[in-house]
Amino acid sequence: MAEKGLLIVLSGPSGAGKSTVISSLMRMRDDIRFSVSATTRAPRPGEVDGVNYFFRTHEEFARMIGEGAFLEHAEYVGNRYGTPAGPVDEQLAQGWNVLLDIEVQGAAQVLEKRHDAVSIFLAPPSLRELERRLRGRGTDAEEKILGRLETAKRECALAKNYAYIVVNDDAETAARELDAIITAERCRSGRKLESIAKGDFLS
Ligand code: ADP
Ligand code: 5GP
Repeated sequence: MAEKGLLIVLSGPSGAGKSTVISSLMRMRDDIRFSVSATTRAPRPGEVDGVNYFFRTHEEFARMIGEGAFLEHAEYVGNRYGTPAGPVDEQLAQGWNVLLDIEVQGAAQVLEKRHDAVSIFLAPPSLRELERRLRGRGTDAEEKILGRLETAKRECALAKNYAYIVVNDDAETAARELDAIITAERCRSGRKLESIAKGDFLS
């Protein structure tokens, strides 16, 4: 049977560069599956249903909660977001490293349930630079940008709860740091020994 994959929880304020760094990371490694979340937020230009998110109505989202479909879910700046549990567990069992890009409340829920998850906080170099990136992205209305900046301050105060912090100054460097964390975590003795047949030469 394939060695079980890593469950990787990546959080960081909106605009820190999570999507950018994840794209670079996925070009560097072919053993990662991105967990596609459900959200009630409207698609941004270029976002595709089923690829970036499953875009759902509030009613559909509430129904999914009722069915127990989510590993975690949370509200963020007026919209709901959730991680469908089924695909995560299937892909982990198949040996894929599964990457969740989720905000801090959802991350706390996952870390409570899954003690073997690896948590990483992607921080912007400064709040000033975060604001510049949010405005530069040009995808959010002014009131949403202000909401995201306020939320960002609260989120950055929780970075200490994560096992790792990566600062996204240069995106390629940040992606290489994530790559290194994943490689190291897969070599942790606890995980390796689990995957090596019992009674084998290591114990
Ligand atoms: P998130 O997914 O965390 O909300 P994005 O990946 O959408 O953030 O990045 C927000 C904006 O910042 C985008 O316009 C992106 O091109 C830009 N960006 C991302 N990483 C960097 C970086 N290291 N340096 C400068 N700009 C960046
Ligand atoms: P955005 O609207 O910028 O795509 O995402 C806003 C925030 O929601 C980001 O911090 C992102 O990490 C988070 N997010 C995306 N999907 C999920 C999810 O499934 N669950 C939770 N809790 N947060 C999510």
